[in-house]
Amino acid sequence: MEGGDPLKRKPCAKCRTQKRKCPEDCLLAPYFPAAKRRSFLSVHKVFGSGKVAKALKGLPEDQRAAAASSMVSEADARIKDPVNGCIGEINGLRAEVEMLRGLLAECEPEVARLKALVETGQAKTDPRPNEAGSPLPPA
Ligand SMILES: [Zn+2]
Repeated sequence: MEGGDPLKRKPCAKCRTQKRKCPEDCLLAPYFPAAKRRSFLSVHKVFGSGKVAKALKGLPEDQRAAAASSMVSEADARIKDPVNGCIGEINGLRAEVEMLRGLLAECEPEVARLKALVETGQAKTDPRPNEAGSPLPPA
Protein backbone atom coordinates (compact mmCIF):
# COMPACT_ATOMS: atom_id res chain seq x y z
CA MET A 1 0.00 0.00 0.00
CA GLU A 2 2.37 2.69 -1.23
CA GLY A 3 1.31 6.10 -2.39
CA GLY A 4 2.81 5.80 -5.88
CA ASP A 5 5.66 8.11 -6.90
CA PRO A 6 7.69 8.82 -3.73
CA LEU A 7 8.64 12.25 -5.08
CA LYS A 8 4.98 13.23 -5.10
CA ARG A 9 4.13 11.56 -1.79
CA LYS A 10 2.73 13.97 0.72
CA PRO A 11 3.96 13.99 4.32
CA CYS A 12 2.11 11.97 6.92
CA ALA A 13 -0.05 13.65 9.54
CA LYS A 14 2.68 13.32 12.21
CA CYS A 15 5.45 14.85 10.08
CA ARG A 16 3.07 17.57 8.88
CA THR A 17 2.08 18.36 12.47
CA GLN A 18 5.72 18.45 13.57
CA LYS A 19 6.65 20.45 10.45
CA ARG A 20 9.46 18.12 9.48
CA LYS A 21 10.34 16.24 6.32
CA CYS A 22 8.49 12.93 6.08
CA PRO A 23 11.09 10.23 5.37
CA GLU A 24 10.50 8.01 2.36
CA ASP A 25 10.20 4.94 4.62
CA CYS A 26 7.85 6.64 7.10
CA LEU A 27 5.69 3.89 8.63
CA LEU A 28 2.77 6.21 9.28
CA ALA A 29 2.54 7.81 5.82
CA PRO A 30 0.40 5.11 4.12
CA TYR A 31 -2.08 4.90 6.99
CA PHE A 32 -2.11 8.43 8.39
CA PRO A 33 -1.74 10.84 5.49
CA ALA A 34 -1.95 14.55 6.26
CA ALA A 35 -5.62 14.47 5.22
CA LYS A 36 -6.30 12.08 8.13
CA ARG A 37 -4.90 14.43 10.73
CA ARG A 38 -7.88 14.00 13.07
CA SER A 39 -7.42 10.20 13.09
CA PHE A 40 -3.71 10.61 13.71
CA LEU A 41 -4.31 13.02 16.61
CA SER A 42 -6.75 10.52 18.18
CA VAL A 43 -4.29 7.60 18.12
CA HIS A 44 -1.45 9.88 19.19
CA LYS A 45 -3.45 11.12 22.17
CA VAL A 46 -4.51 7.64 23.30
CA PHE A 47 -1.57 5.39 22.35
CA GLY A 48 1.27 7.74 21.42
CA SER A 49 2.49 7.91 17.83
CA GLY A 50 5.70 6.01 18.69
CA LYS A 51 3.75 3.01 19.95
CA VAL A 52 1.46 3.16 16.91
CA ALA A 53 4.47 3.11 14.57
CA LYS A 54 6.04 0.28 16.59
CA ALA A 55 2.82 -1.74 16.44
CA LEU A 56 2.55 -1.23 12.66
CA LYS A 57 6.20 -2.18 12.19
CA GLY A 58 5.61 -5.48 13.99
CA LEU A 59 2.85 -6.52 11.60
CA PRO A 60 2.93 -7.95 8.08
CA GLU A 61 2.24 -5.19 5.53
CA ASP A 62 -1.09 -6.67 4.47
CA GLN A 63 -2.42 -6.32 8.03
CA ARG A 64 -1.24 -2.79 8.75
CA ALA A 65 -4.17 -0.92 7.18
CA ALA A 66 -6.67 -2.95 9.23
CA ALA A 67 -4.59 -2.45 12.38
CA ALA A 68 -4.39 1.31 11.79
CA SER A 69 -8.15 1.47 11.23
CA SER A 70 -8.71 -0.56 14.40
CA MET A 71 -6.44 1.71 16.42
CA VAL A 72 -8.35 4.77 15.19
CA SER A 73 -11.67 3.19 16.21
CA GLU A 74 -10.30 2.20 19.60
CA ALA A 75 -8.81 5.64 20.18
CA ASP A 76 -12.01 7.44 19.14
CA ALA A 77 -14.04 5.22 21.47
CA ARG A 78 -11.59 5.81 24.34
CA ILE A 79 -11.74 9.57 23.85
CA LYS A 80 -15.55 9.47 23.74
CA ASP A 81 -15.84 7.17 26.77
CA PRO A 82 -12.58 7.25 28.79
CA VAL A 83 -13.77 4.61 31.26
CA ASN A 84 -15.22 1.93 28.98
CA GLY A 85 -13.73 2.73 25.56
CA CYS A 86 -14.99 0.44 22.80
CA ILE A 87 -16.50 -1.95 25.37
CA GLY A 88 -19.05 0.78 26.13
CA GLU A 89 -20.05 0.88 22.46
CA ILE A 90 -20.16 -2.93 22.27
CA ASN A 91 -22.36 -3.13 25.37
CA GLY A 92 -24.66 -0.44 23.95
CA LEU A 93 -25.00 -2.38 20.71
CA ARG A 94 -25.63 -5.63 22.59
CA ALA A 95 -28.45 -3.94 24.53
CA GLU A 96 -29.89 -2.68 21.25
CA VAL A 97 -29.74 -6.19 19.74
CA GLU A 98 -31.58 -7.59 22.79
CA MET A 99 -34.24 -4.88 22.56
CA LEU A 100 -34.74 -5.56 18.83
CA ARG A 101 -34.91 -9.33 19.45
CA GLY A 102 -37.67 -8.65 21.97
CA LEU A 103 -39.58 -6.54 19.42
CA LEU A 104 -39.14 -9.27 16.81
CA ALA A 105 -40.44 -11.89 19.23
CA GLU A 106 -43.49 -9.68 19.90
CA CYS A 107 -44.15 -9.39 16.15
CA GLU A 108 -43.81 -13.08 15.31
CA PRO A 109 -47.31 -14.14 16.48
CA GLU A 110 -48.89 -11.34 14.44
CA VAL A 111 -46.85 -12.34 11.37
CA ALA A 112 -47.95 -15.98 11.82
CA ARG A 113 -51.59 -14.87 12.19
CA LEU A 114 -51.44 -12.74 9.03
CA LYS A 115 -49.74 -15.55 7.09
CA ALA A 116 -52.50 -17.92 8.14
CA LEU A 117 -55.13 -15.40 6.98
CA VAL A 118 -53.44 -15.01 3.59
CA GLU A 119 -53.21 -18.79 3.20
CA THR A 120 -56.90 -19.27 3.94
CA GLY A 121 -57.94 -16.29 1.78
CA GLN A 122 -59.47 -14.37 4.70
CA ALA A 123 -57.00 -11.47 4.69
CA LYS A 124 -59.40 -9.01 3.00
CA THR A 125 -62.38 -9.72 5.26
CA ASP A 126 -60.61 -9.68 8.64
CA PRO A 127 -62.77 -7.75 11.14
CA ARG A 128 -60.06 -7.80 13.81
CA PRO A 129 -59.23 -4.30 15.15
CA ASN A 130 -55.76 -2.86 14.67
CA GLU A 131 -53.59 -1.54 17.52
CA ALA A 132 -55.50 1.75 17.70
CA GLY A 133 -58.66 -0.20 18.51
CA SER A 134 -60.50 0.71 15.32
CA PRO A 135 -61.41 -1.87 12.71
CA LEU A 136 -59.04 -2.17 9.78
CA PRO A 137 -60.19 -0.18 6.75
CA PRO A 138 -61.53 -2.31 3.95
CA ALA A 139 -58.81 -3.22 1.47
ZN1 LIG B 1 5.96 10.83 8.22
